[in-house]
Amino acid sequence: MEDHYGHRISYLRISVTDRCNERCTYCMPDEEQTWLERTEILTEEEILRVVHAGVSLGISKIRVTGGEPLTRPGVVDLMGKLGAIPQIQNLGFSTNGTLLSRKLKSGVTNAQGLYDAGVRALNLSLDSLDPEVYRESTSRDLLPQFLEGLEAAQEAGFENIRLNCVLMRNRNEHELWSLVEFAAERGCLIRFVELMPVSSREVLTEENFLPAIEARRIIEFRHGELKPLPDYRTNGPASYFELESGQKIGFISAMTNLHFCENCDKLRLTAEGKLRPCLGSHLEFDMRKVLRDSSTTDADLQQFFRDVVDRKPKEHDFRENYQPQRRMIAIGG
Ligand code: SAM
Ligand code: SF4
Repeated sequence: MEDHYGHRISYLRISVTDRCNERCTYCMPDEEQTWLERTEILTEEEILRVVHAGVSLGISKIRVTGGEPLTRPGVVDLMGKLGAIPQIQNLGFSTNGTLLSRKLKSGVTNAQGLYDAGVRALNLSLDSLDPEVYRESTSRDLLPQFLEGLEAAQEAGFENIRLNCVLMRNRNEHELWSLVEFAAERGCLIRFVELMPVSSREVLTEENFLPAIEARRIIEFRHGELKPLPDYRTNGPASYFELESGQKIGFISAMTNLHFCENCDKLRLTAEGKLRPCLGSHLEFDMRKVLRDSSTTDADLQQFFRDVVDRKPKEHDFRENYQPQRRMIAIGG
């Protein structure tokens, strides 16, 4: 599938729940949440049907996210079913990591279950190594559980785990050096993410926003020059740099990189079945309605995908005084 701007779509990011065991200030700031009803959320069968339609049109990368995907019962089984689809070459999972060391009924950890299901691209969120700052950022005291989760993931066999850290002035800017060192010690790839106005505008103030370029300078001050790696790519829009030690560091700068959307290959499926052509645009299309209509054929689902791809915008609207309408948690980061 190719859109009007030459974006070739091969990546589907699926949110499997709007729920979470943390409350990150930039993602779901309020304690008082109205959750989707269980019946509003796509069932495993519906998700698999969407994925089968997608792979028949060239989708080859899937990432499951949320909310916190490990709060959805049965998500490890779902990953196994996704992992068994031969056309899926890259199966990823994004988690806050705090539930990875929990045991499944079979006695293995969630981390092991995910690995055995065929997940190889594991992203963990980590904004701070200081328990106090971690709690401020996530409204939960779960740093020890995060660390256990990371250990469980490495024991399970995951390599090149990506640590995603949202940049926030006055919150974690003084910790960038230690986060870089932590990633090096654990053999993980750290990526610093600019704050985006996805959930609430209040969080994205001049005071809180720390641009990637400034984060780079802070890191260079301690660790020496960061050499750009223009040809190094993972699966997303991150730009990579290398320290003299050979350690790679990524920056995801949706707000300040004017070329951010150029190579976008992604669609998003929300927990309640809206297909979104872009995270930073209000466009979304109700796939659940189509899925739950008994007359819908696989060809109709393929056409739905094509129509959404046709509506994919050239770039996101974040720089155009974008007003958030939906929480990140419902869209799937
Ligand atoms: N709960 C999982 C986690 O935290 O990794 C998966 C879902 S979370 C929405 C996915 C990613 O989106 C996380 O790395 C999180 O830091 C990022 N995120 C959420 N809100 C954001 C925002 N306003 N700006 C930038 N990144 C955000
Ligand atoms: Fe939960 Fe992840 Fe959002 Fe934090 S970023 S509230 S862990 S979904």
